[in-house]
Amino acid sequence: MIKLAIHGATGRMGRELLSGAFHREGVSVAAAIDRSDSPLIGQDSGLISHGQANGVLVASDLPSVLPNCDVVIDFTHPTVTLSMLPACISARTPLVIGTTGFTEQQKSELAQAATQLPIVFAPNMSPGVNLMFKLVELATRALHEETDIEIVEAHHKHKVDAPSGTALKLGEVAAEASGCVLNEVGVFTREGQTGARSEKEIGFSTIRAGDIVGEHTVLFAGSGERLEITHKATHRKNFVQGALRAAEWLPGKEPGLYTMQQVLGLA
Ligand code: NAD
Repeated sequence: MIKLAIHGATGRMGRELLSGAFHREGVSVAAAIDRSDSPLIGQDSGLISHGQANGVLVASDLPSVLPNCDVVIDFTHPTVTLSMLPACISARTPLVIGTTGFTEQQKSELAQAATQLPIVFAPNMSPGVNLMFKLVELATRALHEETDIEIVEAHHKHKVDAPSGTALKLGEVAAEASGCVLNEVGVFTREGQTGARSEKEIGFSTIRAGDIVGEHTVLFAGSGERLEITHKATHRKNFVQGALRAAEWLPGKEPGLYTMQQVLGLA
Protein backbone atom coordinates (compact mmCIF):
# COMPACT_ATOMS: atom_id res chain seq x y z
CA MET A 1 0.00 0.00 0.00
CA ILE A 2 1.48 3.37 -1.02
CA LYS A 3 0.83 6.05 1.60
CA LEU A 4 0.18 9.48 0.13
CA ALA A 5 0.47 13.01 1.46
CA ILE A 6 -1.82 15.30 -0.53
CA HIS A 7 -0.39 18.83 -0.56
CA GLY A 8 -3.07 21.41 -1.38
CA ALA A 9 -5.65 18.95 -0.06
CA THR A 10 -8.61 21.32 0.13
CA GLY A 11 -8.13 22.80 -3.35
CA ARG A 12 -10.06 21.67 -6.43
CA MET A 13 -7.44 19.12 -7.43
CA GLY A 14 -6.65 18.17 -3.82
CA ARG A 15 -10.25 17.15 -3.18
CA GLU A 16 -10.41 15.14 -6.40
CA LEU A 17 -7.19 13.39 -5.38
CA LEU A 18 -8.54 12.57 -1.93
CA SER A 19 -11.61 11.08 -3.54
CA GLY A 20 -9.65 9.24 -6.26
CA ALA A 21 -7.20 7.77 -3.74
CA PHE A 22 -10.04 6.69 -1.44
CA HIS A 23 -11.59 4.67 -4.25
CA ARG A 24 -8.37 3.19 -5.66
CA GLU A 25 -6.73 -0.04 -4.53
CA GLY A 26 -3.04 0.07 -3.64
CA VAL A 27 -2.93 3.65 -2.36
CA SER A 28 -4.11 5.28 0.86
CA VAL A 29 -4.17 8.85 2.11
CA ALA A 30 -1.83 9.24 5.11
CA ALA A 31 -1.87 13.05 5.25
CA ALA A 32 -3.96 15.93 3.89
CA ILE A 33 -2.00 19.19 4.04
CA ASP A 34 -3.11 22.73 3.28
CA ARG A 35 -2.15 26.27 4.35
CA SER A 36 -2.15 26.98 8.08
CA ASP A 37 -4.86 29.67 7.87
CA SER A 38 -7.29 27.43 5.98
CA PRO A 39 -10.67 27.29 7.75
CA LEU A 40 -10.70 23.56 6.98
CA ILE A 41 -7.72 22.68 9.22
CA GLY A 42 -8.81 19.92 11.61
CA GLN A 43 -11.70 18.76 9.39
CA ASP A 44 -11.90 15.16 8.17
CA SER A 45 -10.40 15.29 4.65
CA GLY A 46 -12.66 12.49 3.39
CA LEU A 47 -15.79 14.33 4.49
CA ILE A 48 -14.82 17.57 2.74
CA SER A 49 -13.78 15.83 -0.49
CA HIS A 50 -16.20 12.97 -1.09
CA GLY A 51 -18.55 12.87 1.88
CA GLN A 52 -17.08 9.76 3.52
CA ALA A 53 -14.89 10.09 6.62
CA ASN A 54 -11.37 8.70 6.19
CA GLY A 55 -9.99 9.67 9.64
CA VAL A 56 -7.26 11.86 8.12
CA LEU A 57 -7.66 15.42 9.41
CA VAL A 58 -6.54 18.38 7.31
CA ALA A 59 -3.25 19.66 8.79
CA SER A 60 -0.65 22.24 7.84
CA ASP A 61 2.70 20.82 9.00
CA LEU A 62 4.09 18.86 6.06
CA PRO A 63 7.55 18.00 7.53
CA SER A 64 5.99 16.25 10.54
CA VAL A 65 3.94 13.83 8.38
CA LEU A 66 6.66 12.96 5.85
CA PRO A 67 8.18 10.06 7.88
CA ASN A 68 4.80 8.32 7.57
CA CYS A 69 4.35 8.93 3.81
CA ASP A 70 5.76 7.23 0.69
CA VAL A 71 4.95 9.98 -1.84
CA VAL A 72 3.80 13.62 -1.74
CA ILE A 73 1.37 14.75 -4.45
CA ASP A 74 1.45 18.52 -4.84
CA PHE A 75 -1.20 20.65 -6.58
CA THR A 76 -0.68 24.09 -5.04
CA HIS A 77 1.24 27.10 -6.33
CA PRO A 78 4.85 27.31 -7.63
CA THR A 79 6.18 29.23 -4.60
CA VAL A 80 4.47 26.77 -2.23
CA THR A 81 5.87 23.80 -4.14
CA LEU A 82 9.41 25.21 -4.00
CA SER A 83 9.15 25.94 -0.29
CA MET A 84 8.43 22.28 0.55
CA LEU A 85 11.43 20.89 -1.37
CA PRO A 86 13.98 21.02 1.51
CA ALA A 87 11.66 19.04 3.80
CA CYS A 88 11.02 16.40 1.10
CA ILE A 89 14.75 16.13 0.39
CA SER A 90 15.68 15.69 4.02
CA ALA A 91 12.92 13.09 4.54
CA ARG A 92 13.77 11.47 1.14
CA THR A 93 10.11 11.46 0.19
CA PRO A 94 9.50 11.33 -3.60
CA LEU A 95 7.26 13.93 -5.17
CA VAL A 96 4.57 14.13 -7.84
CA ILE A 97 4.19 17.77 -8.90
CA GLY A 98 1.12 18.78 -10.87
CA THR A 99 1.34 22.48 -10.02
CA THR A 100 1.79 24.68 -13.11
CA GLY A 101 3.07 28.17 -13.82
CA PHE A 102 6.76 27.81 -12.91
CA THR A 103 9.20 30.36 -14.34
CA GLU A 104 12.37 29.08 -16.00
CA GLN A 105 14.29 29.99 -12.84
CA GLN A 106 11.81 28.05 -10.69
CA LYS A 107 12.02 25.06 -13.05
CA SER A 108 15.77 25.02 -12.59
CA GLU A 109 15.24 24.91 -8.80
CA LEU A 110 13.04 21.85 -9.35
CA ALA A 111 15.72 20.27 -11.52
CA GLN A 112 18.27 20.95 -8.81
CA ALA A 113 16.07 19.25 -6.18
CA ALA A 114 15.65 16.30 -8.56
CA THR A 115 19.38 15.58 -8.30
CA GLN A 116 18.60 14.43 -4.75
CA LEU A 117 15.01 13.18 -5.05
CA PRO A 118 12.86 11.33 -7.59
CA ILE A 119 10.27 13.83 -8.89
CA VAL A 120 7.54 13.41 -11.50
CA PHE A 121 6.75 16.85 -12.91
CA ALA A 122 4.01 17.18 -15.52
CA PRO A 123 1.99 20.27 -16.35
CA ASN A 124 -0.67 17.92 -17.77
CA MET A 125 -1.12 14.65 -15.86
CA SER A 126 -3.84 13.27 -18.13
CA PRO A 127 -2.84 9.78 -19.37
CA GLY A 128 -4.84 10.37 -22.57
CA VAL A 129 -3.13 13.67 -23.37
CA ASN A 130 0.30 12.20 -22.70
CA LEU A 131 -0.45 9.30 -25.04
CA MET A 132 -1.71 11.85 -27.58
CA PHE A 133 1.73 13.55 -27.54
CA LYS A 134 3.24 10.22 -28.59
CA LEU A 135 0.59 9.54 -31.26
CA VAL A 136 1.12 13.02 -32.72
CA GLU A 137 4.87 12.44 -32.83
CA LEU A 138 4.37 9.15 -34.71
CA ALA A 139 1.77 10.59 -37.08
CA THR A 140 3.92 13.63 -37.83
CA ARG A 141 6.96 11.51 -38.65
CA ALA A 142 4.91 9.40 -41.04
CA LEU A 143 2.81 12.13 -42.65
CA HIS A 144 4.38 15.58 -42.37
CA GLU A 145 5.78 15.64 -45.90
CA GLU A 146 2.38 15.11 -47.52
CA THR A 147 -0.04 16.72 -45.05
CA ASP A 148 -0.81 20.11 -43.52
CA ILE A 149 -0.82 20.10 -39.73
CA GLU A 150 -3.37 22.18 -37.82
CA ILE A 151 -4.26 22.27 -34.13
CA VAL A 152 -7.73 23.12 -32.83
CA GLU A 153 -8.45 23.56 -29.14
CA ALA A 154 -11.58 24.41 -27.16
CA HIS A 155 -11.97 25.47 -23.51
CA HIS A 156 -14.56 27.07 -21.24
CA LYS A 157 -15.26 30.79 -21.46
CA HIS A 158 -13.33 31.63 -18.26
CA LYS A 159 -9.92 30.54 -19.59
CA VAL A 160 -7.73 33.64 -19.89
CA ASP A 161 -4.81 32.43 -22.02
CA ALA A 162 -4.64 31.09 -25.58
CA PRO A 163 -3.62 28.78 -27.09
CA SER A 164 -3.69 26.36 -24.16
CA GLY A 165 -0.40 25.03 -22.78
CA THR A 166 -1.39 21.60 -24.05
CA ALA A 167 -2.05 22.94 -27.59
CA LEU A 168 1.37 24.60 -27.56
CA LYS A 169 2.99 21.37 -26.41
CA LEU A 170 1.21 19.48 -29.22
CA GLY A 171 2.58 22.09 -31.63
CA GLU A 172 6.09 21.66 -30.23
CA VAL A 173 5.85 17.88 -30.60
CA ALA A 174 4.66 18.17 -34.22
CA ALA A 175 7.25 20.82 -35.09
CA GLU A 176 10.09 18.82 -33.60
CA ALA A 177 8.97 15.57 -35.29
CA SER A 178 8.98 17.39 -38.65
CA GLY A 179 12.43 18.86 -38.07
CA CYS A 180 11.25 22.41 -37.28
CA VAL A 181 10.98 24.79 -34.35
CA LEU A 182 7.49 25.91 -33.33
CA ASN A 183 8.58 29.55 -32.94
CA GLU A 184 9.36 29.58 -36.66
CA VAL A 185 6.42 27.58 -38.07
CA GLY A 186 3.56 28.28 -35.64
CA VAL A 187 0.75 30.50 -37.00
CA PHE A 188 -1.48 31.78 -34.21
CA THR A 189 -3.79 34.23 -36.01
CA ARG A 190 -5.26 34.43 -39.50
CA GLU A 191 -7.37 37.35 -40.68
CA GLY A 192 -7.92 39.21 -43.96
CA GLN A 193 -5.63 38.64 -46.94
CA THR A 194 -3.41 36.02 -45.36
CA GLY A 195 -2.08 34.58 -48.62
CA ALA A 196 -1.97 30.85 -49.24
CA ARG A 197 -0.87 28.49 -46.53
CA SER A 198 2.85 27.76 -46.49
CA GLU A 199 3.91 24.14 -46.54
CA LYS A 200 5.53 23.86 -43.15
CA GLU A 201 3.30 26.06 -41.05
CA ILE A 202 1.39 24.68 -38.07
CA GLY A 203 -1.83 26.63 -37.57
CA PHE A 204 -3.65 27.07 -34.26
CA SER A 205 -7.40 27.71 -33.85
CA THR A 206 -8.96 28.52 -30.50
CA ILE A 207 -12.55 28.15 -29.29
CA ARG A 208 -13.66 29.69 -25.96
CA ALA A 209 -17.24 28.85 -25.03
CA GLY A 210 -19.53 27.68 -22.24
CA ASP A 211 -18.24 25.05 -19.84
CA ILE A 212 -16.04 23.01 -22.21
CA VAL A 213 -13.48 21.30 -19.95
CA GLY A 214 -10.79 20.94 -22.61
CA GLU A 215 -10.62 19.53 -26.16
CA HIS A 216 -7.63 19.24 -28.47
CA THR A 217 -7.44 18.02 -32.06
CA VAL A 218 -4.37 17.73 -34.23
CA LEU A 219 -5.34 17.26 -37.85
CA PHE A 220 -3.17 16.04 -40.67
CA ALA A 221 -4.85 17.05 -43.93
CA GLY A 222 -3.50 15.55 -47.14
CA SER A 223 -5.00 15.08 -50.58
CA GLY A 224 -7.88 12.65 -50.47
CA GLU A 225 -7.61 11.87 -46.76
CA ARG A 226 -7.44 13.49 -43.35
CA LEU A 227 -6.29 12.05 -40.03
CA GLU A 228 -7.55 13.68 -36.82
CA ILE A 229 -6.22 12.84 -33.37
CA THR A 230 -8.58 14.17 -30.70
CA HIS A 231 -8.62 14.22 -26.91
CA LYS A 232 -11.65 15.39 -24.94
CA ALA A 233 -11.47 15.96 -21.19
CA THR A 234 -14.85 15.74 -19.52
CA HIS A 235 -13.75 16.01 -15.89
CA ARG A 236 -10.61 16.80 -13.87
CA LYS A 237 -10.65 13.14 -12.74
CA ASN A 238 -8.42 12.42 -15.73
CA PHE A 239 -5.60 14.41 -14.07
CA VAL A 240 -6.15 12.46 -10.85
CA GLN A 241 -5.75 9.12 -12.60
CA GLY A 242 -2.43 10.30 -14.02
CA ALA A 243 -1.19 11.69 -10.69
CA LEU A 244 -2.06 8.45 -8.87
CA ARG A 245 -0.34 6.37 -11.55
CA ALA A 246 2.74 8.55 -11.12
CA ALA A 247 2.59 8.09 -7.32
CA GLU A 248 2.42 4.31 -7.75
CA TRP A 249 5.32 4.32 -10.22
CA LEU A 250 7.70 6.57 -8.27
CA PRO A 251 8.77 4.71 -5.08
CA GLY A 252 12.18 3.08 -5.46
CA LYS A 253 13.22 5.22 -8.47
CA GLU A 254 16.62 6.91 -8.56
CA PRO A 255 16.70 10.70 -8.05
CA GLY A 256 15.74 12.48 -11.26
CA LEU A 257 13.12 14.66 -12.94
CA TYR A 258 10.65 12.27 -14.60
CA THR A 259 7.83 12.94 -17.07
CA MET A 260 4.40 11.36 -17.50
CA GLN A 261 5.73 9.85 -20.73
CA GLN A 262 8.13 7.82 -18.57
CA VAL A 263 5.41 6.93 -16.06
CA LEU A 264 3.26 5.58 -18.91
CA GLY A 265 6.16 3.67 -20.48
CA LEU A 266 6.13 5.81 -23.62
CA ALA A 267 9.67 7.18 -23.31
P1 NAD B 1 -6.78 25.56 -6.02
O1 NAD B 1 -6.51 27.01 -5.86
O2 NAD B 1 -8.19 25.07 -5.97
O3 NAD B 1 -5.95 24.73 -4.92
C1 NAD B 1 -4.67 25.09 -4.44
C2 NAD B 1 -4.60 24.63 -2.98
O4 NAD B 1 -3.29 24.90 -2.48
C3 NAD B 1 -5.60 25.39 -2.07
O5 NAD B 1 -6.31 24.47 -1.28
C4 NAD B 1 -4.67 26.26 -1.23
O6 NAD B 1 -5.21 26.55 0.05
C5 NAD B 1 -3.45 25.34 -1.15
N1 NAD B 1 -2.29 26.05 -0.60
C6 NAD B 1 -1.95 27.35 -0.75
N2 NAD B 1 -0.86 27.63 -0.01
C7 NAD B 1 -0.51 26.50 0.62
C8 NAD B 1 0.53 26.16 1.53
N3 NAD B 1 1.43 27.07 1.92
N4 NAD B 1 0.59 24.89 1.97
C9 NAD B 1 -0.29 23.96 1.59
N5 NAD B 1 -1.31 24.23 0.73
C10 NAD B 1 -1.42 25.48 0.26
O7 NAD B 1 -6.12 25.16 -7.41
P2 NAD B 1 -6.30 23.81 -8.27
O8 NAD B 1 -7.32 24.02 -9.34
O9 NAD B 1 -6.45 22.65 -7.36
O10 NAD B 1 -4.89 23.77 -9.02
C11 NAD B 1 -3.68 23.71 -8.30
C12 NAD B 1 -2.52 23.70 -9.28
O11 NAD B 1 -2.56 22.53 -10.07
C13 NAD B 1 -2.52 24.86 -10.28
O12 NAD B 1 -1.19 25.24 -10.52
C14 NAD B 1 -3.12 24.25 -11.53
O13 NAD B 1 -2.77 24.91 -12.72
C15 NAD B 1 -2.52 22.87 -11.46
N6 NAD B 1 -3.21 21.83 -12.23
C16 NAD B 1 -2.41 20.94 -12.89
C17 NAD B 1 -2.96 19.88 -13.57
C18 NAD B 1 -2.05 18.86 -14.20
O14 NAD B 1 -2.53 17.96 -14.91
N7 NAD B 1 -0.74 18.95 -13.97
C19 NAD B 1 -4.35 19.72 -13.61
C20 NAD B 1 -5.15 20.64 -12.93
C21 NAD B 1 -4.57 21.70 -12.23
